[in-house]
Amino acid sequence: MIQDIAPHFLDNHFVPGKEPSPDSPVVCFNGKDVLLRYDEKTAQEAALAPEERPINFALAESRTPVGDLHFLPTYGELPEDTNVRFLFTYDGVDVYRAKLSVLDRAHNEPGIDYGDSLVVVNKAMNSKVMEGFLFDSIRDIRQRVILEKNQVFLLMTALQLNNWYVDNKYCGRCATPTVHSPRERALVCPECHRTIYPRILPAVIVAVTYYNEKEDKHKVLLTKYSPKTGHAFPYYALVAGFTEIGETLEDCVQREVMEETGLKVKNIRYYKSQPWGVVDDLLMGFYCEWDEEAQKALSDGAGSLFDDKGDPVIHLDENELRTGVWLTPEEMTLQPDAYSLTNEMMLLFKSESIHSPNDLPLALQRKDIEALEREFYK
Ligand SMILES: [Zn+2]
Repeated sequence: MIQDIAPHFLDNHFVPGKEPSPDSPVVCFNGKDVLLRYDEKTAQEAALAPEERPINFALAESRTPVGDLHFLPTYGELPEDTNVRFLFTYDGVDVYRAKLSVLDRAHNEPGIDYGDSLVVVNKAMNSKVMEGFLFDSIRDIRQRVILEKNQVFLLMTALQLNNWYVDNKYCGRCATPTVHSPRERALVCPECHRTIYPRILPAVIVAVTYYNEKEDKHKVLLTKYSPKTGHAFPYYALVAGFTEIGETLEDCVQREVMEETGLKVKNIRYYKSQPWGVVDDLLMGFYCEWDEEAQKALSDGAGSLFDDKGDPVIHLDENELRTGVWLTPEEMTLQPDAYSLTNEMMLLFKSESIHSPNDLPLALQRKDIEALEREFYK
């Protein structure tokens, strides 16, 4: 998964008052786009059609030595008045975040020349920003496999922190501009003295399993997002959703599966968690199984519980999903990279390491799962 980056190490412990050196790497965001060094390989891969782009994904050997964050601009390369702040430490290197007022202006006013220090292509605006750099979205970086998994994880973590700083520029209670706490990772309102800490959104990922007696096969419930959600992800995924206030994770699992597919589930067992910075999440993965008794009680004898194949009938929420299917390990296809918790949970079903929640806790270690990834992502 994206966070499995050993031997690399990201330490998110906040140290107040750290100052950058000219060589310190700086993460600069513009919305969800990040400023990257535009090397020749990046340029070539960006120009390829999607089907021609390399797909060795997370499993390739790292091209960069430990601690090498060459793909980020350094403090010394940024415009002189750039305001930076310590983010975290990566392989012993202090990484900073920039408030790019100058670049923000350039982004908003394409074609304006800010002198030699500020020039190159801003992908979205096709304007000049800074020589040798471009803004690129993390989704595009992931799809085009420009960076290694550990580097993408660094960017996703930086993005989540950046979102939190940007979204809390003003106090939500009294609208006064906030200031940085001198002691800890927190923003403080000087007017009403409220302290704002980083917030993380809990969400669940759910693999619903079912044993089809008619076919003597184990199946898992897979879905695809509806284009109506604005979610462009075209691959199979598991049921997922955010936890509501006042709800337990187990309640959330049952509610999300019911809302999206009309199915009742039981035997809910926790698997693993994953930070997912793109949407400020902490994902928690659960396996569970279809609950025939509860479904029967719910349907109260109206219509059959099973389709022609003997699978539980799915009532799809078509606002959220365009596909909901029961698939066997042979029938299912994995996502194109091995970054997500969703994909790892799907991989364990596909490799028949898990048939149902009763196979948890899993005896496999990380090295065993990586061996499975190599086997299925040859
Ligand atoms: Zn306030």
